This record gives sequence, C-alpha cells and structure tokens, in this order.
Amino acid sequence: MITGSIIQAYLICKRQAWLLSRQLVGEQDSDFLAIGRLISQESYSRDKKEITINGGKVDIIRLENGEIKLVEVKKSSRMIKSAKFQLLYYMWKANVDYGEIRIPKEKKVIEVHMTDDARGELLNLMNEIEDIINRDKVPKAERKKYCKTCSFEYFCWS
Ligand code: SF4
Repeated sequence: MITGSIIQAYLICKRQAWLLSRQLVGEQDSDFLAIGRLISQESYSRDKKEITINGGKVDIIRLENGEIKLVEVKKSSRMIKSAKFQLLYYMWKANVDYGEIRIPKEKKVIEVHMTDDARGELLNLMNEIEDIINRDKVPKAERKKYCKTCSFEYFCWS
C-alpha cells in the first residue's frame, strides 16, 4: 500500500521506498530525524494538531474561511519536490484542494494547489511507485548525498 512516506522516499531513493513498503523502518534516533521533530514542535506548537491519513501524519490541519488546509512543516527546502508530492498525496486522500509546506528555518511558506495537472502527476507517480514496490527484489543501493542522513544507511552500506 502506498503511503505519504513512501511517496516522499521514492523521489529521493527507490530502494528506500521499497524498504518502507515492507514496513521496514530504519534507525529512528538519527540527529536528522530528531532535529526535524524539534523544529516541528517548537515553531508551530500553538497550531499543531496532527492528523493521520492512511498511516501518515500531517503536521497541521486548519480551517480558514470555511476551507480546510493541510500544512506540512519541513526542516529545509532541500527536498521540496518530494515534500510537495507527499503533501499532494495527503490532500488527494483527504479531498482538500489547498496545502502549505512551511520551512521555519528559512521563513518560507510554499503553496500547494490540487490542480488537474497536479492530480495527474500524482497519479502517474503512484503508478510508477506501485510498479517498483511490487517487485520481489529490493532496488540496488546507489550512493547519494542523502545516504548520510538516511535511516537505512547502516543497512545499505555496512
Ligand atoms: S542509505 Fe542511500 S541507498 Fe540506502 S535507502 Fe537510504 S538513500 Fe537509499
């Protein structure tokens, strides 16, 4: 089953997406994950209201002028494409047309709109992901910059 985390992982590393699809979880106490949790808790503590969509957590759900919006809080804009598709997936599941990615450290708010094009791209991406995660063999590890902060680093490279 595809989840928001698998979508985000796939755009960074197909191997990571495959591992997550088997419910394999890497080392959770890396500094990278801890920092992400801390930023999320400190910067939006008054607004924070996590909701769970299909096993994934959305940081904030807010009602503004009668419209629901979903907000994801990120550590940096370095992997913004994967963050955008993860949020689009939650928006699609929750039938919400507007979301935001907030990056407190960079003082950025990135708007995400569920247009027809965005929906089409999301559905194509989900088809690609299904194809990879339904394979019996895990994709080969390929060294990339992200590996050093990935929770599977030890598994892939030791
Ligand atoms: S350590 Fe690198 S190759 Fe292994 S799952 Fe993570 S990103 Fe992919």
